[in-house]
Amino acid sequence: AIPALETTAAPAVATSRPIPAVLGADLEVPVKGGRLVGYANLDYAASAPCLEPVSAAVAAALPAYSSVHRGAGYASQLTTARYEQARHTVRAFVGARTDDAVIFTRNTTDATNLLAGCLPAGTTAVVFDTEHHASLLPWERSVRLAPPAFPGEAVRAADEALAGIEGPKLLVVTAASNVTGELWPIAALAHIAHRHGARILVDAAQLVPHRRLNLTALDLDYVAFSGHKLYAPFGAGVLIGRRDWLAEGEPYLKGGGAVRSVGSAGEGAEWHDDPEPRHEAGTPNVLGAIALAAACDALTATGWTALVREEERLIARLRAGLASIEGVRELSLWGDDHPRVGIVSFTVAGYSAREVAEALSSEYGIGVRDGKFCAHPFVRHLLETADGGCDDDTASAVRASIGIGSTQEHVDRLVEALRDLVARS
Ligand code: PLP
Repeated sequence: AIPALETTAAPAVATSRPIPAVLGADLEVPVKGGRLVGYANLDYAASAPCLEPVSAAVAAALPAYSSVHRGAGYASQLTTARYEQARHTVRAFVGARTDDAVIFTRNTTDATNLLAGCLPAGTTAVVFDTEHHASLLPWERSVRLAPPAFPGEAVRAADEALAGIEGPKLLVVTAASNVTGELWPIAALAHIAHRHGARILVDAAQLVPHRRLNLTALDLDYVAFSGHKLYAPFGAGVLIGRRDWLAEGEPYLKGGGAVRSVGSAGEGAEWHDDPEPRHEAGTPNVLGAIALAAACDALTATGWTALVREEERLIARLRAGLASIEGVRELSLWGDDHPRVGIVSFTVAGYSAREVAEALSSEYGIGVRDGKFCAHPFVRHLLETADGGCDDDTASAVRASIGIGSTQEHVDRLVEALRDLVARS
């Protein structure tokens, strides 16, 4: 059957469909002694597994794909329609304004760097030391703020810093920490930014897989996130936000698609003013965009209530389990009761983080991450200020993170494995 051109498909609406399955839920992995055990993937914050509806959307697009935007053939038109529909879906997913730009990028890092290249001359970025490197590093000129002791302190520090800056300014902040999972007061920070004539960029890489985000309601200027943390395979991310800086900034890549016309030698090029073609030169990652949009649709169709309820049940169980083991210490900036998504980092007395992660993998079939999670200043701060302190620059933490497809058995297995490790240390 010839697929129809789907230019006007409506975005998915929440219908409380069952929580979709993830691919690889039945994966078995070898552990010491050669036994195979079901894989307990507790590393969603790095990359989440692919949802079945995402895989189906990619499979449906594969048989008829062709180049986007410039081909006259039917397959080109169909692929262009699907690519542009993906843009609409992503826009709706985060509640963006109708005139916001939606630019497909490779990932969150690509999105923050793209915005950094479009800031008006002399812009100062204000950024907390708690940020992931993707949001901490791209800025030519920045003011760095120490990790705040409580959420109100974050707002006060941003207020003070923004007040002292002349010229264009951008406040950069994560919505949910990739280290502690803690939620940041982005509405209050947006309010403060705007009071000082600044704009705000929210790094939503760890928020959107876990909570609904409404850019318009929160009055955010820019949002960035990655498909591979949102249950879509690798390679596509997005930058969404106000058009003017993006329309004037240097094209992120220079090449076909970004130009309206190119003169002969010495005549230069006339770049598109619309941010989407301007910053998407070359053949885009169409399948990545389709996958990302399919993930947005699947989450919306399931409804956030069911997703959040199940995640909160599991993360509460995991945290209670960790707290019950003497020698396991959870890292937290704002205390046990501060709301967070399904991410928890911890240390285990008597072991390096690497030893814990390797033992969990090789003996128990559990996948976690160890290190400083591309947030070196923040993890150092958490380790230094935790009970007992830490002055070893190589010190790291273990991170467990959950999402759709995580089970109580996975969580319980991690807790029991840590209990075993502590008992034999
Ligand atoms: N921001 C946060 C909060 C993250 O957790 C990550 C990834 O770990 C990134 C940005 C960077 O994402 P990517 O590697 O997809 O560019």
